Amino acid sequence: MNHRVVVGMEVHLQLRTKSKMFCRCPVRFGAPPNTLVCPVCLGMPGSLPVPNRDAMILALSAATAMGCTLADETKFDRKNYFYPDLPKGYQISQYDRPLATGGAVEIVAESGVKRVRLRRLHIEEDVGKSLHDDEAGVSRVDFNRAGTPLVEIVSEPDIASPEEARAYLQALRALVQYLGISDGNMQEGNLRCEPNVNLHIDADGRRYETPIVEVKNVNSVRNVERAVRSEVARHLAEFQAKGPAFCEEPRSTRGFDDARDATFVMRGKEAAHDYRYFPEPDIPPIRIGSAWRAEALARVPELPDSRRRRFVAQYGLNDYDAEGICRERETAEYFESVVKAGAAPKPAANWILTELAREANERKATIAGLGVSAPRLAALVGLVESGRVARAAALKELLPRLLRGDADPAALVAELGLAMIEDDALLREAAREAVARNPKAAEDVRSGKEKAYGPLMGAVMRKMQGKANPDSVRRVLKAILEDR
Ligand code: ZN
Ligand code: MN
Repeated sequence: MNHRVVVGMEVHLQLRTKSKMFCRCPVRFGAPPNTLVCPVCLGMPGSLPVPNRDAMILALSAATAMGCTLADETKFDRKNYFYPDLPKGYQISQYDRPLATGGAVEIVAESGVKRVRLRRLHIEEDVGKSLHDDEAGVSRVDFNRAGTPLVEIVSEPDIASPEEARAYLQALRALVQYLGISDGNMQEGNLRCEPNVNLHIDADGRRYETPIVEVKNVNSVRNVERAVRSEVARHLAEFQAKGPAFCEEPRSTRGFDDARDATFVMRGKEAAHDYRYFPEPDIPPIRIGSAWRAEALARVPELPDSRRRRFVAQYGLNDYDAEGICRERETAEYFESVVKAGAAPKPAANWILTELAREANERKATIAGLGVSAPRLAALVGLVESGRVARAAALKELLPRLLRGDADPAALVAELGLAMIEDDALLREAAREAVARNPKAAEDVRSGKEKAYGPLMGAVMRKMQGKANPDSVRRVLKAILEDR
């Protein structure tokens, strides 16, 4: 029984505008409930929405960056449904003439570099937030978020594994951060995603398609991968238990339970006709002319994909490291400054992606925000690469001091006595001693047993407190044993 995982992604992204999509209320996270509201975003009868020009430009720049085709003319529609956090009884969205269609997002997964095609990108308004107080047995609603501009990005079902789902979200988040159109913070709900998952199963010479499930409440990049993985396992188990009858079950919407690492049923999946879409009568259709197109294009910087490709070509990084470096714009810029300050690119990338990334993770800071300036990291990388300081010493002694704000790696090397011993006389003395104390090993080396160098090298390194270059030690030992 062969199966193929088929995932399409719906992503909602809050745009970083000063005011809401159709009124002048500020967009701000964390204000006291119901303090950022007005008759428009509360849906009072007779209030009139006016589209936010900045939001239109930000959404157009996202569409431009993803290679979408921008509509010549776009329009808003009402999507009708009842929910306590939606005071109007409808959401202003876009139905049949979205802002943009087509385009693609490039992802780097273990399977390599891959393009995920996009279906459409449209603008809509966010809803309020219900707050459930289980102890008091009441629910309250906060409308501060109602009317915040969102773009919804719908992909084609090109994502073929849980890892690719995660990579897609990482790529999208990097893209919007580069564009500066959104914070892309999943914890604060700036970026919300709903994977649509099903399986194509080949069994008994036939192709079966399991019912598509939309997964809600996925609140981190890691959980996207977990949610898709748990759905794949569930679909396989259901198909094994129920056979092809499982494929006749209706589509459904499920939530992801982080603690149980599993999804649960929420409701049957709505179809478009359930929403009774009709054109928003208070907002006329909007033409997207050349001035707006130019303004959107001017906002698009070098994007993560092209920067990643450039880093591979220009600095010889592999795709995987280049993707890691380019995921945050700040980190990519930091890496380039380190290289410009004289560091070899590959080791510089390595220090950034391992040691600095670990520290940033612990401090919940960004890599560029750790306070190790580019010239200082370049100096550290240079000391290690030139063999003047052992990597282990740089890691244990030098880097922690730089992270605490110390300035000059070369001065620290002197202060901490970390310099490698390049004095041949000292090395020769230690080597003679090692040979004298390990006659058996010395004899073995002389009779051609290369492995016997091990204990001799070890003895010299101990004597030098690890601060000798292994190549030099071996060279000196060889000379002594061959009596030259
Ligand atoms: Zn308002
Ligand atoms: Mn939506």
